[in-house]
Amino acid sequence: MKNFVRTVLGDIAPTEMGITDCHDHLIKNGGPEMHEHIDFLMLDVAAAKQELANFVAAGGKTMVVMDPPNVGRDVTRMLEIANAFKGKAHIIMSTGFHKAKFYDKYSSWLKTVAEEKIVPMMIAEIEEGMDQHSYNGPVVERVSNKAGIIKCGTSYGVIDPLEQKALRIAAETYHQTGVPILIHTQLGTMGWEVVNFLIELDVAPQKIILSHLNKNPDRYYYEKILQLGVFIAFDGPDRVKYFPDSVLAENIKWLCDQGYQKQLLLAMDAGRFYYQAAYSATRGYFSYGIAYLLTHFVPLLKQLGVNQAAIDDMLINNPQVALAFDLTKR
Ligand SMILES: [Zn+2]
Repeated sequence: MKNFVRTVLGDIAPTEMGITDCHDHLIKNGGPEMHEHIDFLMLDVAAAKQELANFVAAGGKTMVVMDPPNVGRDVTRMLEIANAFKGKAHIIMSTGFHKAKFYDKYSSWLKTVAEEKIVPMMIAEIEEGMDQHSYNGPVVERVSNKAGIIKCGTSYGVIDPLEQKALRIAAETYHQTGVPILIHTQLGTMGWEVVNFLIELDVAPQKIILSHLNKNPDRYYYEKILQLGVFIAFDGPDRVKYFPDSVLAENIKWLCDQGYQKQLLLAMDAGRFYYQAAYSATRGYFSYGIAYLLTHFVPLLKQLGVNQAAIDDMLINNPQVALAFDLTKR
């Protein structure tokens, strides 16, 4: 069997991916995030198509949309977008879970259903097709399009029991399918801890991606994590409310200088209405959107002395390794 990544329109060779945004969003159809902020609601297919077109115009080719079932995933709208970009862009969709806060601690199916019964639900999303209702139940109706990555989440400074359950489910799903695992860390905490949790469950470090570490801009913590062999997906440039771009860019430069350029990925994680140019435009606002990664952040990396080979690794070569299924499991 040859190496592959699983897009919603079928498996492709990793070398077909081109410039890859490893964690982003185009549609979010409500769900528990909306209770944190209404800006998480993103339902406009035309705006999403325009945003993706902007990314493609800037040189982008593949986008990993990290909305898990029950937390904003909209299979129908996303497939409409993916089909419209057939031949122009690749979309990878996610199954799995988010942080524990988004699940009822007493009555959610993540709480009440046994792990050994949830694992086949995850495997089915990856091997048969996603549930078009995203396990919001009670009816499951699968489309033929498959999920190509499994997500888990951790909380701020802790790994909740429900999150530990989801991690065990993800690890077992990985063992039965080879699917890569991406972790949402809350404000970049518990990264090293969650990697060790998965490694103890025999997940290969090269199939683990950590998100949101940029919100915890501690280069020595990054180094300690990267020594475990995993990937860090740095998302969220253009998010000054956390840190200016220079903090992230200087840390990336430092990590490249330490020899870690083969373990770094880039993304925008533009998961709110006003983080996207096309959605903003529908209300008359100007904002940069997802293309900013390529039009603004990459030039800053170059300005700081990150060479083209390292940028190609982060945008093109490393995603081919991180997002490919683990063939030793198939
Ligand atoms: Zn996200």
